[in-house]
Amino acid sequence: MSLRLVLVGPPGAGKGTQAKIICKKAEIPQISTGDMLRAAKSEGRLPEDLVAKMVAGALVPDEVVIGLIDERTKADDCENGFLLDGFPRTVPQATALDAMLEKRGQKIDLVVAIEVPREHLVERAVLRRTDKRTGQIYHLKYSPPPAGTREEDLEHRADDHEDVVKKRLDTYEKMTAELLPFYSARGNLKRVDGVGKVDEVTKRMLEATSLK
Ligand code: ADP
Ligand code: AMP
Repeated sequence: MSLRLVLVGPPGAGKGTQAKIICKKAEIPQISTGDMLRAAKSEGRLPEDLVAKMVAGALVPDEVVIGLIDERTKADDCENGFLLDGFPRTVPQATALDAMLEKRGQKIDLVVAIEVPREHLVERAVLRRTDKRTGQIYHLKYSPPPAGTREEDLEHRADDHEDVVKKRLDTYEKMTAELLPFYSARGNLKRVDGVGKVDEVTKRMLEATSLK
């Protein structure tokens, strides 16, 4: 059985955290355009104007991420499906995704929206740290790294500072939130409450994706 899944939600909602758990269980790759762009940036392959957009909390142009996803989802490891984390983020991206899958006789099976009110999101993002060696996502208050983790192994994202997080939340509301009515109208949207302990949210996610 294949599963082509999209996670939608504002920055800090817990998409990456839940994606890792679901992908392990469903044996599908996690595809995060944010991770792909950050990798390109750290390898010096991302044009300066795109770096500037990310640092300012704006979106990079649709055609850039559509190209990344078109290429990545053709890889062999996507044969049994994939989970898209952070893509699509605009209606034109969603439409392009449908068109590229349709050409291959495929479609998105399910879109899960993780819902978290804005008042939680700034704290979630500002205290997020990622282990550079493993990619594991931590939170200094809610999911702290294990004792003995060295500070230099933890990445604090350049866009996880309060002023930029607020801009990213505004960008989400302006550009991305309209994906919810878009997918809802097609009947393949499920909404999951993202407030509560990570384990509790995971339970809801597994139920929504029928992976329980
Ligand atoms: P996203 O990928 O949607 O931006 P992340 O999965 O990276 O979000 O989570 C953002 C931050 O919030 C991380 O520091 C993560 O550890 C933390 N986090 C994730 N889920 C929860 C939760 N249910 N409760 C509290 N903090 C959480
Ligand atoms: P994320 O890791 O998902 O929070 O994304 C980090 C940043 O990468 C965003 O603030 C955008 O600048 C850029 N980005 C990631 N995914 C997309 C996308 N689908 N469309 C446009 N920009 C994106």
